[in-house]
Amino acid sequence: MSEPRFACSICNEPSSEICHYCTKDACQNHLCARCQRCSDCCSCEVPLDEELETVHGAGGGPSPAN
Ligand SMILES: [Zn+2]
Ligand SMILES: [Zn+2]
Ligand SMILES: [Zn+2]
Repeated sequence: MSEPRFACSICNEPSSEICHYCTKDACQNHLCARCQRCSDCCSCEVPLDEELETVHGAGGGPSPAN
């Protein structure tokens, strides 16, 4: 029973989770683990998409506590 029942509305990847805000299907890559929202709804400071260009120069990002 591990077959995903949904497909990410963003990338169409198999997903078993939905956005708790817009209730659209979202894979783990596009579902925020903090607010359980998809990338379109997530308003967390740390975006899930790593496609964002970091113009702050090289260097490790801030390490979250725990
Ligand atoms: Zn996705
Ligand atoms: Zn959403
Ligand atoms: Zn979030």
